[in-house]
Amino acid sequence: MKLFPLFADLNQRLVLVVGGGAVAARKAQALLEAGAFVRVGAPELNAELSAMVRDGKVAHLAGRFHDGWLDDAWLVVAATDDAQVNAQVAAAAGARRILANVVDDPALSSFQVPSIVDRSPLIVAISSSGVAPVLARRLRERIESMFDHALGPLAELAARYRTRIRERLPDLGARRRFYDRLLDGPVAALLRQARPEQAAQALETALAQPQQTPAGSVVLVGAGPGDPGLLTLKALRALNEADVILYDRLVGDGILSLARRDAERIDVGKRPGEDHAATQARIHALMVEQARHGRRVVRLKGGDAFIFGRGGEELQHLRAHGVPYEVVPGVTAALACAAHAGIPLTHRDHAQSLHLITAHCRDDAAAPDWAALAAGNQTLAFYMGVGQLEPLSRGLREHGRPADTPFALVENGSRPEQRVLTGRLEDLAELARAHAIHAPALLIVGSVAALANELHWFGEHIDGMAAATAG
Ligand code: SAH
Repeated sequence: MKLFPLFADLNQRLVLVVGGGAVAARKAQALLEAGAFVRVGAPELNAELSAMVRDGKVAHLAGRFHDGWLDDAWLVVAATDDAQVNAQVAAAAGARRILANVVDDPALSSFQVPSIVDRSPLIVAISSSGVAPVLARRLRERIESMFDHALGPLAELAARYRTRIRERLPDLGARRRFYDRLLDGPVAALLRQARPEQAAQALETALAQPQQTPAGSVVLVGAGPGDPGLLTLKALRALNEADVILYDRLVGDGILSLARRDAERIDVGKRPGEDHAATQARIHALMVEQARHGRRVVRLKGGDAFIFGRGGEELQHLRAHGVPYEVVPGVTAALACAAHAGIPLTHRDHAQSLHLITAHCRDDAAAPDWAALAAGNQTLAFYMGVGQLEPLSRGLREHGRPADTPFALVENGSRPEQRVLTGRLEDLAELARAHAIHAPALLIVGSVAALANELHWFGEHIDGMAAATAG
């Protein structure tokens, strides 16, 4: 070990920062946050440091560095852009046995400042011993994404209850299990919602019956359109914490592979010979059963769970059975496809509203409100429409949409195999057939669709308008 890691208590202790620029200001700020008395030494200070002096936050030592600046200091940070001054500071500090950090110069430094992930009172510090700061930064990003901001308040709450928890659970093993439950259960969930009082209540309840198996729960997670990069941080965390994942077929392998390794993965997609109602009933029963066993269930759905995803029905079932749940939104197909096709859905020159429409209606549902859909100045995004292109195109035109209204059909949006076909509404079914467009595909209708010809940047782009004009 080249460096010995330590956490310094600088509260009310004097630290000298040498330098008057942006780096010195950043260091001074961080030291102030740790409660240090900060003295900044430099001939001149930038605006930020001057303001800090004016507000009485830091003291200013004017002029060039000299040994006396180090009087009473516990630590010194050299942050000037003058190598000679930095070396002088390091040497003077060394002579007095004061630890010194020279910014970006591990050779001159007797201590280094790590990259940190701050969930105070929990702090993760990362060092590459000065040899690979880029790697340390990467690692920091990873860790930053792994833990949400409820972790700090949770640690504080646990500290407040520490004595009582120890009295109630004298056995170390039982105590560990109890703390694990705090991290995964309703207490943390309530802190994520910034409800500290309810969280404390939930902790009291858990403490009253510490041996009881914790209640399971379900997180309804939108997985986005297939590109793992479009998962939210919350979705990623839920996947990391899951005991069991119930997923739909539309969710790609790339996303499933991000889940906790020992999480059980169950494909709950439609089985041959099963109708939708039976599939849905099976999923409902499975969610409740798994949660009743005390497991953390992630119900993973393509796109967003509330957009043509039956998420609402699943929550109603959970609520009826008293199973606690959380919902994490996902990037729905319309947004992902539009972004990856270069279609600004509500470009102000073209559309005032965006309609998300299913082309696949419940058998008992009324026919689409064609007149409303055919009005101009709006963008239509049809889900599940590949089998209905002919009636869709005809319905819109019969109710007044011009035959040359632009459309874009986005197949496998956001995935490496994405194809986008644009054209005029009257050619829709014909062009889609000619180019063999298959599900999953999203149909966008409205004048914004033509912008894809100009703004496309991802995957394969087929300009069916140019072809029609040329032909
Ligand atoms: N809940 C999902 C939609 C489920 S309905 C969401 O919010 O996106 C399934 C339909 O979504 C498909 O028929 C298709 O129209 C659309 N879809 C889903 N993923 C898609 C993708 N990657 N590219 C194009 N369309 C997609």
